[in-house]
Amino acid sequence: MQQITNHLPTAELQALDAAHHMHPFSTQSDLAKVGARVITSASGVRLKDSEGQEILDAMAGLWCVNIGYGREELAQVAARQIRELPYYNTFFQTTHVPAIALSAKLAELAPGDLNHVFYAGSGSEANDTNLRMVRTYWEQMGKPEKSIVISRWNAYHGSSVGSGSLGGMKGIHSQGGLPIPGIEHIDQPHWWAEGGDLSPEEFGLERARQLEAKIDELGEDRVAAFIAEPVQGAGGVIIAPDTYWPEVMRICRERDILFIADEVICGFGRTGNWFGSQTLNLTPDIMTVAKGLSSGYVPIGGSIVSDKVAEVIGATEFNHGYTYSGHPVACAVALENLRILEEEKIVEKVREDTGPYLQEKFATLADHPMVGEAKMIGMMGSIALTPDKSARAPFAADAGTVGYMTRERCFANNLIMRHVYDRMIVSPPLVISKPDIDLLIERAWQSLDEGMKAVKDAGLWVAG
Ligand SMILES: *Cc1c(COP(=O)(O)O)cnc(C)c1O
Repeated sequence: MQQITNHLPTAELQALDAAHHMHPFSTQSDLAKVGARVITSASGVRLKDSEGQEILDAMAGLWCVNIGYGREELAQVAARQIRELPYYNTFFQTTHVPAIALSAKLAELAPGDLNHVFYAGSGSEANDTNLRMVRTYWEQMGKPEKSIVISRWNAYHGSSVGSGSLGGMKGIHSQGGLPIPGIEHIDQPHWWAEGGDLSPEEFGLERARQLEAKIDELGEDRVAAFIAEPVQGAGGVIIAPDTYWPEVMRICRERDILFIADEVICGFGRTGNWFGSQTLNLTPDIMTVAKGLSSGYVPIGGSIVSDKVAEVIGATEFNHGYTYSGHPVACAVALENLRILEEEKIVEKVREDTGPYLQEKFATLADHPMVGEAKMIGMMGSIALTPDKSARAPFAADAGTVGYMTRERCFANNLIMRHVYDRMIVSPPLVISKPDIDLLIERAWQSLDEGMKAVKDAGLWVAG
């Protein structure tokens, strides 16, 4: 067997990759033609590729590398834990110190009475857990018919069969027989794209009250829970109008349905508090966590569960769990990640120092002729690309065409920004410095200039 090292020429690595590695959320045949970019190492907020280029990662990987790349402490902790106890399960009346310590720490950090953790290997798995847990809760409460979960169109909750069904991405639903029964979707609070002539405040209320209308339509005694991201991430960093969440919270309380806050992106400092629920004043019964829990260094996810729900679930055998629920190496690394976030006051910096600095600079992108709005909360933000700002008009070209062209320019300028249709997203490592924030904005502006030129040259500067 040939050894695969970083020292093969890029083209050879790309050929092997195309021949044997199936990529998530990619058209394999298209990717084979262009060749995947080969990332070889990373440090702080910078990636290095096989051509020796240094790239500013304004996406923190996939919204997860909150403490930045290359922290030696996490490597040390992982090595120590692998030597001491690389694996044991938590199924049959056994436990281990890393799972105990991480659970206690999460209970301390999580708001309110969210004091119990059920582990998974990822956000998708955790949301599958949540789906079964809320239904089991109501079964135990003697209301087995209270089983429908309401979610939102364009939400992202993962891509397993359960979590992909909970999400509201039509592209995911269109493959493999999703969504599964018992899940209903309402519209998202995306004012810029869908608000029409309503003010953001009126629109926020209108979208929140869709939840009430949906509960009325289905019957309160058939609805188990509402699931939502405090700020939609993969849907395009959609920050709801101020009126939205207080109304949603009122409805969940009055109608006696559980609320699951999917904190997979918002958790662990992204919005300037430990959890997005704190930033937006939400009171979830369950929070989904993953990504920033370990800053992406190892796979781990989980559900942080309230006293109320945990007590009911705890009274029966919950026939659910994963081989890697509470994996000791993952728990140890996550705990070390939380220590760094806490001791280096990274969450406070996002709230009070570098976060406001990034927000101020990011807002200036709204002055660019192709940008309709630039919004950010904590360190997650997005800009809407438009050929006509005042009308909030989309491009006539298929949604995503212009976003893709702009992202290509970002790549060429050694900046990783993502596009979701025609919105451009940033979510950098939370440790990004002020000079690197300046560089991020400089490269973003240049990429927008070049993207706009490419769009015009292609004859696509047309409102739809
Ligand atoms: C990424 C994400 C998930 C899925 O997490 P995986 O670890 O990829 O399974 C779930 N919810 C939200 C909000 C996410 O952003």
